[in-house]
Amino acid sequence: MLDDPRSHGLWENMAPAAPQTASLPGDLNADVVIVGGGFTGLSSALHLAQKGAKVVVLEAVEIGFGGSGRNVGLVNAGMWVMPDDLPGVLGEDYGDRLLKLLGNAPDLVFDLIGKHKIECEAVRSGTLHCGVGAAGVRELEQRAGQWAKRGAPVHLLDADETAKKVGSTVYAASLLDLRAGTIQPLAYVRGLARAAIEAGADIFTGSPVVSAERSGQRWSVQTSRGSVSADWIVVATNAYTKAPWPQVRAELLHLPYFNFATAPLSENLRAFILPERQGAWDTKEILSSFRFDSQGRLVFGSVGALRGTGTAVHRIWAKRALARIFPDIGDVEFEAGWYGKIGMTSDSLPKFHRLAPNVIGFSGYNGRGIAPGTVFGQVLARHISGELSEADLPLPITDPQEQTFRTLREACYEAGSQLAHLAGTII
Ligand SMILES: Cc1cc2nc3c(=O)[nH]c(=O)nc-3n(C[C@H](O)[C@H](O)[C@H](O)COP(=O)(O)OP(=O)(O)OC[C@H]3O[C@@H](n4cnc5c(N)ncnc54)[C@H](O)[C@@H]3O)c2cc1C
Repeated sequence: MLDDPRSHGLWENMAPAAPQTASLPGDLNADVVIVGGGFTGLSSALHLAQKGAKVVVLEAVEIGFGGSGRNVGLVNAGMWVMPDDLPGVLGEDYGDRLLKLLGNAPDLVFDLIGKHKIECEAVRSGTLHCGVGAAGVRELEQRAGQWAKRGAPVHLLDADETAKKVGSTVYAASLLDLRAGTIQPLAYVRGLARAAIEAGADIFTGSPVVSAERSGQRWSVQTSRGSVSADWIVVATNAYTKAPWPQVRAELLHLPYFNFATAPLSENLRAFILPERQGAWDTKEILSSFRFDSQGRLVFGSVGALRGTGTAVHRIWAKRALARIFPDIGDVEFEAGWYGKIGMTSDSLPKFHRLAPNVIGFSGYNGRGIAPGTVFGQVLARHISGELSEADLPLPITDPQEQTFRTLREACYEAGSQLAHLAGTII
């Protein structure tokens, strides 16, 4: 994409081709126009088209260009916020509703993959949240207890059990969440696009929306070469938002996150590291994540951007970190390195916005957007088709709140991650 191997890296090298799409050629009519071709927009398109709506998706660049094509591929259940804290933040009704919806959200992802035969290296053997030090163990104990009392299949593993599951002795405990799994994210989002097209949606790429106007009860959105008139607009642009809804971007702090993929590891290492193929990440503030792809490449990531001095700093750190966590791994070669921006909200919760009458969208997934984006896309479809009233949505309607000192704080994330990695912080 954009001829830049640092944008989608391994995922672009290995994913099945995207369905053929072109840019918007002229003026069209639809029931719903969806702006943004990631998990949220394409799940919304698929579910609306299945209900018989005439749907047009406009994507500025390519399918999966934003976070959906660049992420780690951990299909998580729930959010960062502790389950018990949610009702206090959102109120009982929304808190319970959101917990149920996002706790079960991986089901929808794996169901869609099965139903639409999406080839995306799907593995559902759970995820391992790995505890670093006493503080990490305390956090996992709380999380485990709060999910367990809600009947979720989560298991707190001690250091020995963790060492067997991870293939490393550096972690003090881990939380195995059997609701979760891993996918190849670009392959998944391309598969969603194919399924949406098969259900009747029209998708146009290379078609940035530049403006939106209300005319009577209808909306018209414009690109440089055409327009779409529709009753509803779904704004699914999230952290990669370009005009005409800059407030969606302004509400989010961009946290850069990179991944490196090793060459396929030896059979011995593959049998020893993550032998059951869970996806893993740790409890540190500047966290690290690791998982395998289907051909035995270890994908290792952390906070930072692969640009400027960051490219070398993070690469050198990643090699050292891998050697520290997996001492037998040796001097690994990286086949690919890429990065993207995660959209963080001020309270770590996603948001539902009505930006104008019949202009709606979800955003702000705080680095957990595969399952939420998929399930929120379905919620948008159910709301637009009249199945789900406003009062029954999983989040209250809020106005986007601009984050203060955004530019400065984003620069601090980028510089701070380099400093931390230069200082050699690993475990
Ligand atoms: C490096 C990284 C690692 C991550 N790891 C994980 C993970 O392991 N698990 C997980 O669950 N989540 C993860 N996430 C988060 C997850 O990827 C995102 O939350 C999710 O992809 C958001 O999907 P989306 O469809 O809402 O937005 P996006 O996928 O960002 O799509 C938005 C699209 O809108 C388009 N767009 C913007 N403006 C316009 C316009 N004016 N006109 C037309 N199109 C427009 C963009 O080009 C973009 O393609 C990660 C994110 C990153 C960046």
